[in-house]
Amino acid sequence: RDSKQLGFPNSENDGGHDAKNLRVKLVLLGDSGVGKSCIVLRFVRGQFDPTSKVTVGASFLSQTIALQDSTTVKFEIWDTAGQERYAALAPLYYRGAAVAVVVYDITSPDSFSKAQYWVKELQKHGSPDIVMALVGNKADLNEKREVAVQDGIDYAEKNRMFFIETSAKTADNINELFEDFVDYATSRLPPDIL
Ligand code: GDP
Repeated sequence: RDSKQLGFPNSENDGGHDAKNLRVKLVLLGDSGVGKSCIVLRFVRGQFDPTSKVTVGASFLSQTIALQDSTTVKFEIWDTAGQERYAALAPLYYRGAAVAVVVYDITSPDSFSKAQYWVKELQKHGSPDIVMALVGNKADLNEKREVAVQDGIDYAEKNRMFFIETSAKTADNINELFEDFVDYATSRLPPDIL
């Protein structure tokens, strides 16, 4: 994969170095309890800790991944811990966010409706170029599933979002979420956003 696909058509302008270090502000949204903190902890620390309750006040974590062409992407992950419901905080939270991850729980239709609410909020208050992912978490609880995979796919397609189902518990698709989403996002974002 070359730097062109990463949204840098003028790569010759920086001296011909192929390696890029991108910094991406990522905001996490979704109903309380859908697994946002667990997804981030799984991604950043490689752990699943159902007892950890870091969601007191907005939290911030960062994680860097390396892509095949030696580009590195540093995610600055903002987890609001429900504070986004205070209207005054929303613009601050969304400002400068190139990507947003909206999470629901596949066993909870309510959380799926709530996810759709967040998508509308992002379309209203986020950057017009923001790239969004829709994530159906707790995919390990398939026997309790109440949101069909196809419903997630259809909604994501209609709203031009990346879609994936994950399990923070089993680690299924957690790295894929971040790696494949960044591929998807960088092919759509203008270079000056990253
Ligand atoms: P948040 O409020 O969205 O940050 O949700 P948390 O990350 O605190 O998770 C809420 C609850 O869901 C916790 O009890 C987790 O153990 C559980 N949980 C999170 N992710 C998963 C998952 O992928 N599978 C299952 N079975 N439980 C999960």
